[in-house]
Amino acid sequence: MEPFDEEETKMYFYENRLKTFVGWPFDEECACTPESMAQAGFIHTPSDNSPDIAKCFFCLKELEGWEPEDDPQKEHKSHSPTCHFIALKKKVEELTVEEFLKLQKERQKFIINKSCNETITKFEEAAKLRRAEIIKTAMDEE
Ligand SMILES: [Zn+2]
Repeated sequence: MEPFDEEETKMYFYENRLKTFVGWPFDEECACTPESMAQAGFIHTPSDNSPDIAKCFFCLKELEGWEPEDDPQKEHKSHSPTCHFIALKKKVEELTVEEFLKLQKERQKFIINKSCNETITKFEEAAKLRRAEIIKTAMDEE
């Protein structure tokens, strides 16, 4: 994966994250406006049943069930304390190339972790089904 690939890095930028908040249910009256959500690293990833799912582009933490008074920065920190992006003291635009590459390396770890966990869950579910089938077959044979 190219570290400076445009698709790969575009969500580092506030404007691109902000653009994802189409149909976000919270407006100016709320603490979690699209602006403050995007500022805190979130992108909008709604599903058919949940219009308010937001995911950190960096640590991939998904949060839903937002309340109007929720502070996106605080929620992000409390639900994902190891996220490097929310802990960042500088703007992305102000990072050196070296700092950016280090950050990108950390992000890859989150991506790999998530995909490993998904694979493990799938495997465990498949194993559980298979086990139930074996037991059923064994019982039928008795
Ligand atoms: Zn995060």
